[in-house]
Amino acid sequence: MRTPYYQYDLGILEETLKAIRRNTAGHPDWHVHYAIKANANPLLLKLINEYGLGIDCVSGGEIQTALDNGFPASSIVFAGVGKADWEIDMALKAGILCFNVESEAEMDVIAERCSALGTTAHIALRVNPDVDAHTHANITTGKAENKFGIEIPMLMPIIRKARQNPCFRFEGLHFHIGSQILDMEPYRLLCRKVNELQDQLEEEGVKINSINVGGGLGIDYENPEDNPVPDFDGWFNIFRDGLRLRPGQQLHFEPGRAVVAQCGRLITKVLYVKQGTIKKFAIVDAGFTELIRPALYGAHHKIVNLTSNGPLMKYDVVGPICESSDIFGKDELLPEVHRGDLIALMSAGAYGETMSSCYNCRPLPPAVTL
Ligand SMILES: *Cc1c(COP(=O)(O)O)cnc(C)c1O
Repeated sequence: MRTPYYQYDLGILEETLKAIRRNTAGHPDWHVHYAIKANANPLLLKLINEYGLGIDCVSGGEIQTALDNGFPASSIVFAGVGKADWEIDMALKAGILCFNVESEAEMDVIAERCSALGTTAHIALRVNPDVDAHTHANITTGKAENKFGIEIPMLMPIIRKARQNPCFRFEGLHFHIGSQILDMEPYRLLCRKVNELQDQLEEEGVKINSINVGGGLGIDYENPEDNPVPDFDGWFNIFRDGLRLRPGQQLHFEPGRAVVAQCGRLITKVLYVKQGTIKKFAIVDAGFTELIRPALYGAHHKIVNLTSNGPLMKYDVVGPICESSDIFGKDELLPEVHRGDLIALMSAGAYGETMSSCYNCRPLPPAVTL
């Protein structure tokens, strides 16, 4: 098979989906929407659909992909700070479950499009809870300085406006504080903020049908073999114990990375071993065109030599792209590397294939399942 390519282990995906089902089975009011931006490969979507998850979208293209892959419109929620008019129209025509609205200006446009199309929309307001997820700066989303959501001091007048407009059914509140969150404290803090806000809104006579706590659960990038299934038990427990939901209230979740990251790896071949004066480089045929997380977030994926069991030696593992940031690992200890060895970049199922590009006129990577 031509390298580089993505390889997905559907067994690991299924174990992960079972962990989600185990936690949600006793809660008919809980709804899990998989954040499709993490991975939109149809082979994965098919299994995710079979386990009854809905979809969280951030673009019209994602809505179309979800529909094309058999997810019912009634399972789709739609977030994003910059929804274009055609994307709003598409969502309205499809009849999605809920728009997660990120600004008053966006709400006005959705109302306009509803009138133009003679339809109505279920909306929730995305709240910026000013909670620090303590994750990488580029993937924290719930601080006042981030572009996402509506800040709490500005919320009430917008809720009032939403409730007065006959185009809308006001569903409730949406939150999403960041990504790759392993410390559960930010989620506890989020629960406290949600509880406080609910109490406040209740005093103002606002009824909340649904709370959406977003996604962000992290995964173990350094020991994927030991921890193939993320801590969904711990994560769901935080909300089970921490949120004071009212009777009949619906609770929505939007995990992306945690569902698919561990089931995928990027397989690449060593093209050259280059000895420098101070470094040895293993030059592989994958670059940030296939897996951009190291270049974009300073992320590290565990690197495994699938071919060699020679003595351990140190390498910088680098790609072929004409950019200095095209590095997968520095001073990696690997069994002696030779031209032609196959290398696996582990935990690459999330934000890997979906973020791949054609920079340098490279072809997009194919994918296979195990
Ligand atoms: C990206 C995103 C998610 C999923 O985040 P993960 O860190 O992959 O779990 C959930 N909700 C919204 C609104 C998002 O933008």
